Amino acid sequence: MAYRPRKILKSREYNREWNEWALKGNWSPVGWRWIEGPTGYRLDQLSKGNYLIIQRPHGSLYHHSYGLLSKFFKGFIEKKLYGAKCPRCKAVFCPPRAHCWNPECKVQRTEWVELPMKGEVFTFSVMAFSATPFLKTLPFIITYIRVEGCCTTLPTRILQVNPWEVYPGLKVNLHFIDNPKGEIMDIYCTPAEKPDPSKFIMSKEEIERLKEDMKKVKNWVIRKFGSEAQPSIEI
Ligand SMILES: [Zn+2]
Repeated sequence: MAYRPRKILKSREYNREWNEWALKGNWSPVGWRWIEGPTGYRLDQLSKGNYLIIQRPHGSLYHHSYGLLSKFFKGFIEKKLYGAKCPRCKAVFCPPRAHCWNPECKVQRTEWVELPMKGEVFTFSVMAFSATPFLKTLPFIITYIRVEGCCTTLPTRILQVNPWEVYPGLKVNLHFIDNPKGEIMDIYCTPAEKPDPSKFIMSKEEIERLKEDMKKVKNWVIRKFGSEAQPSIEI
């Protein structure tokens, strides 16, 4: 028989005020403005027109399940890193996969294994623009880390290092933020060794150009967010 009922075993900061707000404001007009603005089909030949602007608040609160990958994200809350191991081919995936992707394993269900908080850089990118939640922390470096013993790579930020000191193969330690929420941003990495200048992949000219670009990004973030700006790279 299928298991239907469910009960809450543990929860934290499960915000119900949001729910109420979302229901209240759902697309109902709360105000309007009659405005004067430009009209016309050529930007160099605009004239005045009048328009009605309606204000409709809209909020969305998503409740979504991590499903078979739940243990990976619950691990973040408990500050433990889990991977998924295929019992047939022994491949370990992090990020995890509920089923093995090796065609020979025929969609074998994987098993959870705890992983060490260390790995190495597989590739990286210096970010000068990002999605809204991370704008305040620009510029930052996103790395794809191969966690020790795994055959896939995990996207994380790398901190406490200059962008030109990062290269594929650089050993890193993984860390959890102080208050993990069960999302991928809960985890970040820092170099586990002193970066080896003979392995740097940028030329002097490229480093200088990168520094100029990073300064512009940092200034933009400070102009936009003021004291709330948290640039991740020191320049
Ligand atoms: Zn397999």
